[in-house]
Amino acid sequence: MLRRRTLLKVIVLGDSGVGKTSLMNQYVHKKFSQQYKATIGADFVTKELQIDDRLVTLQIWDTAGQERFQSLGVSFYRGADCCVLVYDVNVMKSFDTLDNWHEEFLKQANPPDPKTFPFILLGNKIDIDGGNSRVVSEKKAKDWCASKGNIPYFETSAKEDYNVDGAFLCIAKTALANEHEQDIYFQGIPDAVSESDQRGGGGCAC
Ligand code: GDP
Ligand code: MG
Repeated sequence: MLRRRTLLKVIVLGDSGVGKTSLMNQYVHKKFSQQYKATIGADFVTKELQIDDRLVTLQIWDTAGQERFQSLGVSFYRGADCCVLVYDVNVMKSFDTLDNWHEEFLKQANPPDPKTFPFILLGNKIDIDGGNSRVVSEKKAKDWCASKGNIPYFETSAKEDYNVDGAFLCIAKTALANEHEQDIYFQGIPDAVSESDQRGGGGCAC
């Protein structure tokens, strides 16, 4: 059977403090810290996972939310397979700025087909105050996702490790659907028929 190793580049964006670094740490290292340490510039972590017959390396790029997009440089966006937008369900401003993050990503990354480029939205920190301090309803978030072409939506808690694996699996599957010509090597003899022929565009199969 064909086993392919695929590198997928995922970019995580959102306001400072929404929990981008915490979500990545929880997913990759199964660790959470209350301490806030602002991310400096941009950095990535990797995680290996198997999806069907594919070995997938997720390369997850973290940023500091307050960074100007321009200063991240073109190479930061080059070859992105998926963009993960994160907001804090307890902070309205972090939801209101999603439009800007979405627009700026498309402007900077300039994907060939902006309408079908895969995004995913994560509403984080749902654990706080048992949900009593949330100011953005699930419906409001889902309406926003619908207005952007049915972006998949997950509510998460990096602290409680709630929905983190599920969200990143969806991210990997969504990125896989957008991956093009990026397999880094084959194990075994490649089939004549590429798996890319079997892929659907855009949606999340999770
Ligand atoms: P970033 O600036 O988006 O990378 O945000 P961080 O991951 O650094 O998180 C900012 C602060 O929020 C830190 O103090 C984290 O401990 C805290 N935090 C992150 N995710 C959660 C969460 O799901 N629940 C709670 N209660 N706190 C969180
Ligand atoms: Mg950070």
